Amino acid sequence: GGAALALSLAACSGGGAGSGDKTGDEKPSDLTIGVSMPTQTSERWIADGNAVKSKLEAKGYKVDLQYAGDDIPTQSQQVDQMITQGADVLILAAIDGTALSSQLQAAAAAKIPVISYDRLIRGSKDVDFYVSFDNYKVGVAQGTALLVGLGLLNKDGTKGTAKGPLNVELFAGSLDDNNTQYFFGGAMDTLKPFIEDGTLVVKSKQTTPEQVAILRWQQETAQKRMENLLTSSYNDGSKVDGVLSPYDGISRGIITALQNAGYGKGAKKLPVVTGQDAEIASIKLINDGVQSSTVFKDTRLLAEQAVNAAEAFLQKKQPQANDTETYNNGVKVVPAYLLPIATVYKDDIKATLIDSGYWTAEEVAAGQ
Ligand code: BGC
Repeated sequence: GGAALALSLAACSGGGAGSGDKTGDEKPSDLTIGVSMPTQTSERWIADGNAVKSKLEAKGYKVDLQYAGDDIPTQSQQVDQMITQGADVLILAAIDGTALSSQLQAAAAAKIPVISYDRLIRGSKDVDFYVSFDNYKVGVAQGTALLVGLGLLNKDGTKGTAKGPLNVELFAGSLDDNNTQYFFGGAMDTLKPFIEDGTLVVKSKQTTPEQVAILRWQQETAQKRMENLLTSSYNDGSKVDGVLSPYDGISRGIITALQNAGYGKGAKKLPVVTGQDAEIASIKLINDGVQSSTVFKDTRLLAEQAVNAAEAFLQKKQPQANDTETYNNGVKVVPAYLLPIATVYKDDIKATLIDSGYWTAEEVAAGQ
């Protein structure tokens, strides 16, 4: 009885202590990293979670990986629990960039370093590091891919042979995700000159982030909005030539709405649709000429950077940043490590995705 009681007391005082009482000389197996991911409905977050977990475990650390089902209270609760259970570092991909402030305060009080993963946590001084991709460049790549798909630009950036006016519609991601402003901003900076000179026409006139955003990046919501756009703005026989889409799931919702309205049959060509994340379902569509492009972000490399940053903090060092200017979260500029991105058209699937081992040729071809 006595021994068991002593043990459980020891476990208690260990739990909740966070990394404040650690010296940096602990064995990895004495350290726990809490990893909170937003959702399992999109495959990238599953890949991210698995990659972070397996890389940390390979180094001997304990990992508490949780998914929040895109529900803000669930994520808050999961992070609270990681803190009370004595996590030594937190790696957090927030659902809502502003909703974790009280958790971050608790983490700071327990001296637990917080790494913001892919999406910047806003409105808190207690974000210690940010690992992501160059999110503005993602937006530029999406705008550019729309122009290339439409034939207004060539891949090398020179002017293409297509002529306007061409009808386009715009979609953005979830407004509570800090990345959305960068994606949409980068894309609109790229498309604006073509909209202003009349080459591109947004027939619905819906061009503000509020008008075009899709809450929680949901495919069904995107499909519904595309259906509404077709009914409200294209019931006069006019056609959509291109759709700016920020994420492959949204792209597939858009494509479904278009196909249900007769696009992709006979002379009614499917519009050029962009994307992001190189999800396998979209890579197949790109391979089949249905979706035009996606933006590949190698989540394996992102996971590696998150692990590097976590390890630096555990060794009481500062992780190495390559950007200390861009990511102001409203309270401070968070030092960041940003990774490069790559646009993928049909021709790039092999070199970018298959040769790098992200997808196999069999996965891309399956079901054909
Ligand atoms: C990520 C994107 C992803 C989107 C939807 C964003 O924060 O950066 O890669 O497509 O969330 O999950």
